[in-house]
Amino acid sequence: MKIARPDSAVTEIAPAVTAFLAAPLMQIGAKATAAASGRSFPVYNPATGQVIAQVPAGEAEDVDRAVRAAQAAFDGPWSQLLPVQRQNLMLKLADLIEENGEELAQLETLNQGKSITLSRLIEVQSSAEYIRYMAGWATKIEGATLDVSIAIPPGTRYQAFTRKEAVGVVAAITPWNFPLNMAVWKIAPALAAGCTVVLKPAEETPLTSIRLAQLCLEAGLPEGVVNVVTGDGAAAGAALVAHPGVAKVTFTGSTETGKLIGIQAMKDMKRVTLELGGKAPMVMFDDMDLDLLGAAVGIGSFFNSGQTCCSGARIYAQKGIYDKALEVIANVTRSLSVGAGLDPAHQINPMVSARHQAHVRSCIARGLEEGATAVIGASAPETGYFVAPELFTDVRQDMALMQDEIFGPVVTMTPFDDPDEAIRLANDTRYGLGASIWTQDLNRMMRYVPRIKAGTVWVNSHNIPDQNMPFGGYKQSGLGREHGCGALDNYLETKSVCVAYR
Ligand code: NAD
Repeated sequence: MKIARPDSAVTEIAPAVTAFLAAPLMQIGAKATAAASGRSFPVYNPATGQVIAQVPAGEAEDVDRAVRAAQAAFDGPWSQLLPVQRQNLMLKLADLIEENGEELAQLETLNQGKSITLSRLIEVQSSAEYIRYMAGWATKIEGATLDVSIAIPPGTRYQAFTRKEAVGVVAAITPWNFPLNMAVWKIAPALAAGCTVVLKPAEETPLTSIRLAQLCLEAGLPEGVVNVVTGDGAAAGAALVAHPGVAKVTFTGSTETGKLIGIQAMKDMKRVTLELGGKAPMVMFDDMDLDLLGAAVGIGSFFNSGQTCCSGARIYAQKGIYDKALEVIANVTRSLSVGAGLDPAHQINPMVSARHQAHVRSCIARGLEEGATAVIGASAPETGYFVAPELFTDVRQDMALMQDEIFGPVVTMTPFDDPDEAIRLANDTRYGLGASIWTQDLNRMMRYVPRIKAGTVWVNSHNIPDQNMPFGGYKQSGLGREHGCGALDNYLETKSVCVAYR
């Protein structure tokens, strides 16, 4: 079923979703399979706390089977295809994602908890568009011709050229905040480059990744090109990163896990891309257009209930507008409706898990203990993993509230006088993923953008990614960039070919 209007409520779960939930299995080669151990683990609906499915608990043996399947596909049918054939299969996959869009969106909202509107627009629509964007690059991979200055032995001349070659089997490890979309951010460029993939989705949200692997087969991708092993990070994820058959690791998740993965991957010199945590600042100058404040926090800070790596979590507002901005932002925060994602009227949906809910609550409690002021103080529904949105003032720069990624609907607001000091504070965390500057003064914008240490700086907006815009982190927010034509290079090796002639 195609996606319904983004803002329409779900009145009934699609029968295909209910049928899928009965027995979701891992996908290894052409086979939907249980774990070799026979063990499984529960997957929850965060809006109710109820178990909605049991999923195979994959471990090293399952990972090994999946990597072998991916290697066989890489050595065999997948590399025989012409670039245009890869492109067309990817376009077919994008069509299938849309054709099954409503089921995928419902599945995501049931499993992740997010608004059905976001599931439809981001998880489904934007994922299909990204696959199409990357499919286009499959036919545009190119090297260079190079002149050579050496002539040994005398009389011999050389002409060189470069070839871009698929790196091999890719281990893709994804987080729980945008499960389908993050899987596609990795699979789409990998397929365009000619790689094969073993995907290990987050243990909280494996369902749409399993469905994606099924759709890959349905689209006609040869078996083994996209495999999914479900399981936890310690057993399945670590085994995948360490597997000698893996040539490249692409990871999105926390900075702590990213460091472990980077170190492990380097032992075998595997190629690595890491998209990690963030604590994005929003620097609001006196001359900003105050009409933008609602969208600034609605989209910038509370998008996906704050479970977004570049969520605008730290607002610094200049003293001339601080009181007004605080009033508007507090009103917006108070007005946000908290409830289940299946009803699009709710803007704040549950945290993904009981564990994450406890983490966000403990960050709030610690902030209060350290002397910060909670401006809102609302309560959330008792059932399910809800946390009401909170806005803090009186937050010192050294407090955990300001330094640590919370990944929930919690925002701080701090006044500043001197713009240079605001930029210093904006840069004063270990992260550097996203940031924004709010001003109508072009000179000010041009002066301060270069001084912000972040992979993306938005101006008069926040949290707007685009498939054509490189995305990634400075400092401990990661290594490498996704999106844009450059993302393809993450999955390619460059080979120099040097040809002698006389
Ligand atoms: P996480 O690091 O706990 O887990 C991410 C994935 O890594 C999961 O699939 C998990 O099973 C796996 N994993 C855990 N330990 C592993 C290990 N030792 N070896 C291999 N795999 C392992 O992160 P999370 O809690 O799922 O996601 C939230 C984090 O992701 C936040 O910090 C957020 O900022 C970050 N994130 C970053 C981006 C970005 O693009 N920079 C995007 C989304 C989320």
